[in-house]
Amino acid sequence: MQTYDLIIIGAGAAGLLGAGTAAEKGLKVLLIEKMEKPARKVRISGKGRCNITNTKHHDDFLAHVYPDSRFLNPALRNFSNFKTVEFFNSLGLKTVTERGERVFPESGKAWDVAECLVKWVKKSGAEIICNAEVKSLNIENSKISSINADFGNNEKIIKAKYFLIATGGISYPLTGSTGDGYNFAKQAGHTITSLQPSLVPLKIKNHNTQLNKLQLKNISLSLYVDNNYVDDEFGEIEFNKTGLTGALTLRLSRKAVGALTAQKRVELKLDLKPALNYAQLKNRIAREMQTVTTNYALLRKLLPQQIITTFAEKTNIKLQKQITDADMEKIIRALKNLTFEISGFNDFDEAIVTAGGISLEEVDSKTMKSKIVDNLYFAGEVLNLDASTGGYNLQIAFSTARLAAQCIVKQLERKL
Ligand SMILES: Cc1cc2nc3c(=O)[nH]c(=O)nc-3n(C[C@H](O)[C@H](O)[C@H](O)COP(=O)(O)OP(=O)(O)OC[C@H]3O[C@@H](n4cnc5c(N)ncnc54)[C@H](O)[C@@H]3O)c2cc1C
Repeated sequence: MQTYDLIIIGAGAAGLLGAGTAAEKGLKVLLIEKMEKPARKVRISGKGRCNITNTKHHDDFLAHVYPDSRFLNPALRNFSNFKTVEFFNSLGLKTVTERGERVFPESGKAWDVAECLVKWVKKSGAEIICNAEVKSLNIENSKISSINADFGNNEKIIKAKYFLIATGGISYPLTGSTGDGYNFAKQAGHTITSLQPSLVPLKIKNHNTQLNKLQLKNISLSLYVDNNYVDDEFGEIEFNKTGLTGALTLRLSRKAVGALTAQKRVELKLDLKPALNYAQLKNRIAREMQTVTTNYALLRKLLPQQIITTFAEKTNIKLQKQITDADMEKIIRALKNLTFEISGFNDFDEAIVTAGGISLEEVDSKTMKSKIVDNLYFAGEVLNLDASTGGYNLQIAFSTARLAAQCIVKQLERKL
């Protein structure tokens, strides 16, 4: 039976970064992936463009990480977002930084990011086995001695000195992230916090499907819970068949999902004219009214056609009626405050990340080592760490994996 220095379960962003880091330092590394290819999720990330990281400065970066960004602090200091950019550039992957400090491959292809990582891992000497699913850990004397893996009709026991669980979360399970790591961690005595979809579309109560595919740009979206303001974002949204998606919705979804789960009333309020205050909007409408007479004609000047019926229903105005002062008042108020009650959220299948995971209290943030089992480490989304959109989630995977691998290397050196 072969013995490895390190077995890494899961060849996603974290597993690959961890494998290359350890193998470059001379460790005998086995990276096991259950899908037919490594990094399936990276390949579809960023709408196929892969938002690799975000170049916000340390504290600003951490402000986008939940539920306890302090946990990421040592890992991000050790392998920062800036080092990630240098790292990919050193591998020959040119990058560009776009609006919001988001970093993408210059080629615009997420596939290139995945291939560049895989090539580097292979060059480092790590062995990658695909189509092999780890089923369980074998624990002896409070240490993991081996794993059971299914190589398609052929179950094998593989031994190693150290183990790194990098199996990701439970969102987009078609990419291979089916939550197996939570079971392995439980087997080792770890606690899994409650799991929720995050960066996920939200469902609108009594949704008008006519709105499907309508995109609204340069708007402001505010989240209210039990009638109290919680947060707002500026940018674009898109309606879908059941409700709302798009960057702003996804960013507010973490807090919305939490509130919905706690049975609270959740509303999203759209400011369709965020650049104009009440008085400016009134002036603008007064100007438009010199050329139009009906509510419909006025709204056509102010809004996309697709949203007019919903807007009229919500404001309770008759579209074909002459505009009255009362109608004008209602229109101004609704343009600044069009309210949608949120009735739920989409499932993990459509969530960009999983909020929740292996309890951070049971993992040493300076090493990513389990506080329960001596030769077990964790990296990436399997941990109870998630972040907003903008490249933060991949950076969490890279930073935690780099730190875990470097600490395993040090541990082994100490024992030599
Ligand atoms: C559609 C989409 C777009 C995204 N876009 C971005 C983006 O642009 N920027 C960003 O920062 N983040 C993005 N994310 C989030 C980001 O991709 C993830 O947070 C990140 O990939 C997590 O990396 P990971 O290595 O921890 O887990 P994963 O990438 O999920 O990798 C885990 C791997 O483990 C394997 N595995 C699981 N169980 C087993 C087992 N039992 N045996 C063997 N292998 C196993 C899986 O097959 C998988 O390959 C996106 C996510 C999605 C779904």
